[in-house]
Amino acid sequence: MKFEPLHHWIKPVSGPLLISGPCGAESFEQVMTTAAQLKALNKVSLFRAGVWKPRTRPNAFEGMGEEALKWLVEVKKEHGFPITVEVANAQHTELALKYGIDVLWIGARTTVNPFSVQEIADVLKGVDVPVMVKNPIHADLQLWIGGIERIAHAGITKMAAIHRGFYFYGKTKYRNKPLWQLPIELRTHFPDLPLICDPSHICGNRELIPSVAQKALDLGMDGLMIESHCDPSKALSDAKQQFTPAQLREVMNGLVVRHTSCEDEKLQNKLGDLRKIIDEIDDELMNTL
Ligand code: PEP
Ligand code: MN
Repeated sequence: MKFEPLHHWIKPVSGPLLISGPCGAESFEQVMTTAAQLKALNKVSLFRAGVWKPRTRPNAFEGMGEEALKWLVEVKKEHGFPITVEVANAQHTELALKYGIDVLWIGARTTVNPFSVQEIADVLKGVDVPVMVKNPIHADLQLWIGGIERIAHAGITKMAAIHRGFYFYGKTKYRNKPLWQLPIELRTHFPDLPLICDPSHICGNRELIPSVAQKALDLGMDGLMIESHCDPSKALSDAKQQFTPAQLREVMNGLVVRHTSCEDEKLQNKLGDLRKIIDEIDDELMNTL
């Protein structure tokens, strides 16, 4: 399976590649104000907003639907941002394409359902639009791979995977456990598929986000998706995990992009030796077990 490099469809601005915007598009004013403030940061490559919100319980804010797509078209006109929205079925996909949404993403609650992913893939046949596939809610790597394959088989080559953590029944400081080994295994399976981390949905609260974002960069991930809202305390969904654009600037300024490749031959040899020792210890452990 061949995927195009990320820079073919998202233009880097400055610093690590960043996708940002509110969890949900709530009103014309909220969307426009957030977009104007994000524009001023000069760090955001793609503006995100949910217009159909998958909610665990009924009677919560479920998004403004088609009406909100019109606001996002205005954001694009006014600020020049390309736009991404979540699509969860064929009808969402058709509407997003009708309004010229630049990039689609498939949410964690949709990746779990092959029927839904397939109906989205069927609408995308013959269409050249980038698609990002979030990991399924539970830690099933095959389901994530399957979702990516269904979209790729529709002929989509501009793709990315989004790591947003995994549901965990029990005590954890995260809203969704990162289980970093899963995105790493996904990368082994699809070496040229761009991988983006969504620390907002991993953490569920603002405080943990900087360290998770840094870890993602340290692991060589290609970009970040972080939620932002002009007034997070009034957000109709995910209020605790959204930053104001000004707070987001601080978070991004605090991140360090380290060079992950190393040309030093001595260090490479030493690393090779250490890897051999680790392999031997692994073998011994397996035998003992
Ligand atoms: C979101 O990005 O707002 C969202 C609903 O994400 P997820 O599918 O990761 O829960
Ligand atoms: Mn959200």
